[in-house]
Amino acid sequence: MGERISENAVGMSREELKEILVAVINASKEKSPLEKKAALKELERERRSQIMHISQGYAEEMSRWNHQHGCSHSRDKTTGDPVPKGTGVWTTGGQYHSGPDGMTATLVCLRCSTNWKFRITEQEREYIENRGMMGMQPPPIERCTNKEEFLRNRPEDPQPKILELQKAWQEERL
Ligand SMILES: [Zn+2]
Repeated sequence: MGERISENAVGMSREELKEILVAVINASKEKSPLEKKAALKELERERRSQIMHISQGYAEEMSRWNHQHGCSHSRDKTTGDPVPKGTGVWTTGGQYHSGPDGMTATLVCLRCSTNWKFRITEQEREYIENRGMMGMQPPPIERCTNKEEFLRNRPEDPQPKILELQKAWQEERL
């Protein structure tokens, strides 16, 4: 009974009252031109930093890629000059250690300091005990416990993605 009276008192239905309230709330949310300008500026700043972030990520990946693929980890046996991968002798050294998960080894390229960490087999342990790890052939990356450190694919140039983003933003501004 009380509810009905209050509805009638303003001469509106519950729905009409709700519509007005929503309109009032929305109007109070609307930004002044100055606030709009500041919000846009903030948005542009965020977008610029997003692009910078993409570019920086690419630069870092590329430098990692060049580092990992710019060295053949091989040298000429007599001159010591770099030679294509797998020819001459490996420019590696390292050590092995027994841990809780069995025997693991860390092989390092003495030229570019790439690290290969891997579990060694019984045969490899024997080989290392007899000959050491100087000039040992690096294991396939699949065997490495640190394989996530190796980039298998060349990093993708982010330029098309950046252009796409900029185009979408441009359209949004129109
Ligand atoms: Zn190397």
